[in-house]
Amino acid sequence: MIMDADMPKYLYNCSACKESFEAFHLMCEKLDKREGCDKECALKKVPSFPINLNKSGKGQKVGEIVKQHIEEAREEIEKEHYPIYWEVTDGEIIIENRRGEKLSKHHLVYTTELTFIQERIGECEYSGEKICV
Ligand SMILES: [Zn+2]
Repeated sequence: MIMDADMPKYLYNCSACKESFEAFHLMCEKLDKREGCDKECALKKVPSFPINLNKSGKGQKVGEIVKQHIEEAREEIEKEHYPIYWEVTDGEIIIENRRGEKLSKHHLVYTTELTFIQERIGECEYSGEKICV
């Protein structure tokens, strides 16, 4: 499991009950109902960060800009490489991306997923698929 701290935060708008709320979930998941909403929810995911009219990003906190860039980078990586397939061969962890390309040990995806895969190996899983970062 990906830890909560790694979960991206999304802002949702329900047009049925006019409620806005925040939700944490994986990038590849999508909510279709607001928890506790008794109407036919019509949820709309709104960008986590307000689109800034001022392109220089003035007035936006540095931390927010960094977070936004990380988020964008993650989406890029996800589009480019995921789902990934991994397996242990001769004691070595092999990771292939969606196009079946073997990723080097220095590849960002490899270093990102290494801990996750090592945990799986600890639970006696020696191959698997991972759909998102
Ligand atoms: Zn609703």
